[in-house]
Amino acid sequence: MIEKTGVPSKEAVLEQFPERIVLVKPKAIIECYKEIPCNPCSTSCPFDAIHVPEDINVRPTIDFDACTGCGICVYHCPGLAITVMQVKDQKVMMKIPYEFTPLPKVGEQRNVLDRSGAVLTQGTITKVQTSPKQEKTALIHVEMDAAHLHDAITIEVTHGSHES
Ligand code: SF4
Ligand code: SF4
Repeated sequence: MIEKTGVPSKEAVLEQFPERIVLVKPKAIIECYKEIPCNPCSTSCPFDAIHVPEDINVRPTIDFDACTGCGICVYHCPGLAITVMQVKDQKVMMKIPYEFTPLPKVGEQRNVLDRSGAVLTQGTITKVQTSPKQEKTALIHVEMDAAHLHDAITIEVTHGSHES
């Protein structure tokens, strides 16, 4: 499916998620579906939670026990293929990479999009993190209803924004 539409199948997406109970704590969800020579996710993780074997083309795997949900790999993935998800009090807390300016503001409501780009719901921006080491990528924290856990992937970019 992903070859034809660019959108992974629901089954492929669900394979990347741990059981819901694991997501009481924040965990990285890696949606890297193609074999490509790439590994910054693995080399950037300070907790050794992501593994890419010697054959760098092999897709990464994650040890959810070791992952703290810190989000460092989110900044470092050039494919913007990693989010961090947590489910708490019937809400999803999602951390996403964002490479447009102006950055969203805390408290702002933004449309949350699914993998096909359709609007799923509205989310609230709860935190905007930037890093001096990753000037072009910010980490945006978005909160929404837990029903969207497996479908939410990013937020809509507002009119007039441009790539940073
Ligand atoms: S979120 Fe942090 S701990 Fe988890 S895999 Fe990414 S860098 Fe490692
Ligand atoms: S850094 Fe991103 S694109 Fe590269 S292997 Fe890791 S998850 Fe895939």
